[in-house]
Amino acid sequence: MNVGVLALQGDFLEHIDMLDRLGVRAKLVKTPKDLDSIGALVFPGGESTTMSKLLESSGLGEALKARLELPIFGTCAGLILLARSISDGRPDQVSFGYLDVEVRRNGFGRQIRSFEADLDVLEISPPPMKAVFIRAPVIEKVGSDVKVMATVSYDFNGKEESVPVVVRQGRYLASAFHPELTGDTRLHEYFLQHIVESR
Ligand code: GLN
Repeated sequence: MNVGVLALQGDFLEHIDMLDRLGVRAKLVKTPKDLDSIGALVFPGGESTTMSKLLESSGLGEALKARLELPIFGTCAGLILLARSISDGRPDQVSFGYLDVEVRRNGFGRQIRSFEADLDVLEISPPPMKAVFIRAPVIEKVGSDVKVMATVSYDFNGKEESVPVVVRQGRYLASAFHPELTGDTRLHEYFLQHIVESR
């Protein structure tokens, strides 16, 4: 099975590297034509508003909508691209809506742009997974078909709340953080073994 990584903007090279470590030579996806030979896709972290624009101008967004069977793993901005609804996005920002979640862009606060946490991830931990959050989206609501695989507890303006940070719905997997930046390949491996190869 050929795996592609959306390579319009963001940290797609880090995803290529993670997949490489798992023995998968992934393909950069920049044009609709690049979709022809792939059977699974990764949406990287980066800037979802920019990716949204480039998806539109490259024609990739339209082409992707015709590939509904594709399993997709999205991280951070990639999660935003998959979400059903986005708060604090740009008005013209589009998402595919494949994951029944509501996200708030940069929802962990503007001052604290980045933090780390050790997460227990369902079907993956122990040991815990070190997660790096960089201007990450907060998942504010999940639909009943969405499996929450990990949560993080966070102080939102003096109120400690636990929010989902790894979710799966069928062939869609997403994390609010960046597994591609820590060298921990377990989520990528989960995507390949439990979603891509089992189809
Ligand atoms: N804040 C970014 C966005 O809205 C996502 C950040 C990231 O991918 N690290 O797209």
